Amino acid sequence: MQRERISENVYWFQSEVYAQVTAGVIVGPQWAVVVDTLAMPEESKQIRQFVTETIGVPIRYLINTHSHADHAWGNCYFPNATIIAHTLCAKNLKESGIEALEATKKQNPAYQNTEIVLPHLTFAHGEMTLKIGKKNLIILLTPGHSADGISVFVEEDRVLFAGDAFMAIPQLNESHYQQSIDVIRKIGDMGLENIVQGHGDIILRGEIEEAVQENITYIENIHEIARKATRRRNPADYLNDFDIESSGKSRVYLGGLAEQLHKRNLIWMFKQVVAAEGLPKSDDEYEDEPEEDDFEDMLQSVDQMDVESLNANSNDDFYPDEDDFEEDSD
Ligand SMILES: [Zn+2]
Repeated sequence: MQRERISENVYWFQSEVYAQVTAGVIVGPQWAVVVDTLAMPEESKQIRQFVTETIGVPIRYLINTHSHADHAWGNCYFPNATIIAHTLCAKNLKESGIEALEATKKQNPAYQNTEIVLPHLTFAHGEMTLKIGKKNLIILLTPGHSADGISVFVEEDRVLFAGDAFMAIPQLNESHYQQSIDVIRKIGDMGLENIVQGHGDIILRGEIEEAVQENITYIENIHEIARKATRRRNPADYLNDFDIESSGKSRVYLGGLAEQLHKRNLIWMFKQVVAAEGLPKSDDEYEDEPEEDDFEDMLQSVDQMDVESLNANSNDDFYPDEDDFEEDSD
């Protein structure tokens, strides 16, 4: 696990084992606030130890930026903290997190002692403010990656813990893609010193504009590709031609999971476009020539795309099945 001090009494953690997921700590004179838990129990415990032993203050609040495993499953390792989250985050953890954790336990003994702990204090409208020493923490709604997304703004330092509303590669998930774009733009307009992304490295002030533009362009590119795919008889073949670099992102992001995440995004967006605009109803709406038995082929290839829930409340979030995709030919 990496640790860095971002500003006075504000710390950042990044996992070295899982998708560069991040967490944060804001330390006050008497107690501290933790933002997210990281993915592995050992990592959650290391954050707790750092705060309670190295710094030497208790953890009074833990904020979950959303319900996904890599941000909220470690709640049980902060037993004395009041947990704050979006109302939907508590609902998601209760309705799917508990079951997903039980399934994960059967496959990964590291989670044997993990239990889902539901947030105690939730909200769904407006903002929440938490005063810690001289600093104001403003907790705001940032839906996009997930409908239950919240971010933590350290007002005095102009640091935003953005959760997965801002990532090295946007992960399109539940909300309309335009909502992801709107939130990314809103974050870009906040006049921040640092964006702490849910996954990836800290974005410094001078890098924010470029990062915002890169993410918005990426989402718009994916949308365009997905739209064109709906006018192809074999959309899966078409989508497979667009690797991560062709969409303006590097494949080294997120500990090498970038390409998988990207393909997930393409499939997700394709389904969104089909749901919104439908598939061609007549032959002349296609942009390519018919081949023998093409309609069957197309139906089949759409079927193959029906990967399991893209809103995985589990650590599988970043690991689509290998056989969902064709191998790159190079
Ligand atoms: Zn995440």
